[in-house]
Amino acid sequence: MYRNVKYSPAYTLVPTYECFNRCEYCNFRVDPSQDAWLTLEQAEARLQALRGQGICEILILSGEVHPESKRRDAWLERIEGLCELAIALGFLPHTNVGPLKYEEMLRLKAVNVSMGLMVEQVSPELMQTVHRHAPSKRPELRLQQLEWAGELQIPFTTGLLLGIGETEGDRRDTLEAIAQIHQRWGHIQEVIIQPYSLGNSQILNAPGFPLEQLPSAIAIARRALPDDITLQIPPNLVRYPDLLVACLEAGARDLGGICPRDEVNPDYPHPHLQALQEVLSTCGWYLYPRLPVYPQYEGWLNPALQSRVQQWRNALSLLSPVQPNL
Ligand code: SF4
Repeated sequence: MYRNVKYSPAYTLVPTYECFNRCEYCNFRVDPSQDAWLTLEQAEARLQALRGQGICEILILSGEVHPESKRRDAWLERIEGLCELAIALGFLPHTNVGPLKYEEMLRLKAVNVSMGLMVEQVSPELMQTVHRHAPSKRPELRLQQLEWAGELQIPFTTGLLLGIGETEGDRRDTLEAIAQIHQRWGHIQEVIIQPYSLGNSQILNAPGFPLEQLPSAIAIARRALPDDITLQIPPNLVRYPDLLVACLEAGARDLGGICPRDEVNPDYPHPHLQALQEVLSTCGWYLYPRLPVYPQYEGWLNPALQSRVQQWRNALSLLSPVQPNL
């Protein structure tokens, strides 16, 4: 008897790597004004090359321009333009660009089938350590985003980052906060359980989260969160087959967007889909593609997005699971 685990065939566009925060574990950012932004022409060339390959999700992932910066409007406009371009070329955008103002979120809702923001951890103590130079990591700001996403009926992905100095109690508080907000609005489709993983360009000199503890962290999350929230783990950070299967047994059911490059953890390439399926199928799991919006939320999208999603849903229903290289 096979059980299903899902993933989203995805590609990431990065409008800019510049970020005004300096999280100590970051392997993504460059200093403000030190990066040429991705132009719409460059993005179009990349997206055109992806057409017909079964990739449905375009993840728009960006470093953050300060909320009071004069360049903030241009930054948001570029993000919106990339989403519109992705839709015009037949893809489904999912944007994750840090905390947004309410009006910014409303604007991006019109051009996204879902959006995301990691809560990471709600413990304020981290603002004195790994987040001492990262004002947008204030827990209340991130929880406010989850509330607004619910109010605006935006299907949403959030998650925990494990191993950045939090306690077990902090993790419980974070799960509880997410559960409470979801109970109010019913909009959180996935929670990512992400182990902090040491990279080559970060400031923080600390070992990664002990991966052997991941299955128990997932089991705790599964008990703490409502059943209609799917738990997601990134397979490139859970690199050992036995561990990956143990995480599924503990309650994870999704492997997230599998892209050519994990921009947040560039030192950890994603596994090949067929190799991944080979590992999974020997243990009774089948890997299926999914869309970046779950079916129960499609009615929240505007008619243009709904019709694009329907086209993809029809195409996906014809697909069988990923075939292993046997
Ligand atoms: S982790 Fe995100 S918010 Fe923090 S510095 Fe890196 S890009 Fe910026």
